[in-house]
Amino acid sequence: MFTTMEIILRDETLEPPEEDPIIDLQSDAYFMGQALRQALKAYEAEEVPIGAVVVKGGRIIARASNLVETLKDATAHAEMLAITQAENAIGDWRLNECDLYVTKEPCPMCAGALVNSRVRRVIFGCHDPRGGAAGGSINILQMVGLSHRCEITGGVMGEESGQLLKTFFGERRGNTES
Ligand SMILES: [Zn+2]
Repeated sequence: MFTTMEIILRDETLEPPEEDPIIDLQSDAYFMGQALRQALKAYEAEEVPIGAVVVKGGRIIARASNLVETLKDATAHAEMLAITQAENAIGDWRLNECDLYVTKEPCPMCAGALVNSRVRRVIFGCHDPRGGAAGGSINILQMVGLSHRCEITGGVMGEESGQLLKTFFGERRGNTES
């Protein structure tokens, strides 16, 4: 039941190696581990467990978890909150040199915000074939005619992210059935 949490907690010990050169894949897994910690925070707050971080120059400048229920705000997705935080951190709405890591493929609203804020790269965990806007259902991140296109890397620690969502919705169903 709690294998996902165990996996995530184990990730806390996952630090980038100090001496070895950090290759792309390793740092993607590291930063996604940080996004997963935010997702776990959402899980603990009984929010749909999705988390995001924004990275600039190898440093995390924003961390956010989904807060739709807490704020009673349909726009309070992890990505939206992380984008605003990152903009505040660098004092500019242009996030050209920033990469956003999110545990689930962004929805159309968040994908639109990612394009408008000119985020360089979007790295996501589990795919969302039904509602995903990074190629799952529609590809807003790279839509012809928009002012900017984001690079996309999908499926980074997708198993862990997907499992956490499954656990959350499974428990919810259990609660409403009993
Ligand atoms: Zn969203």
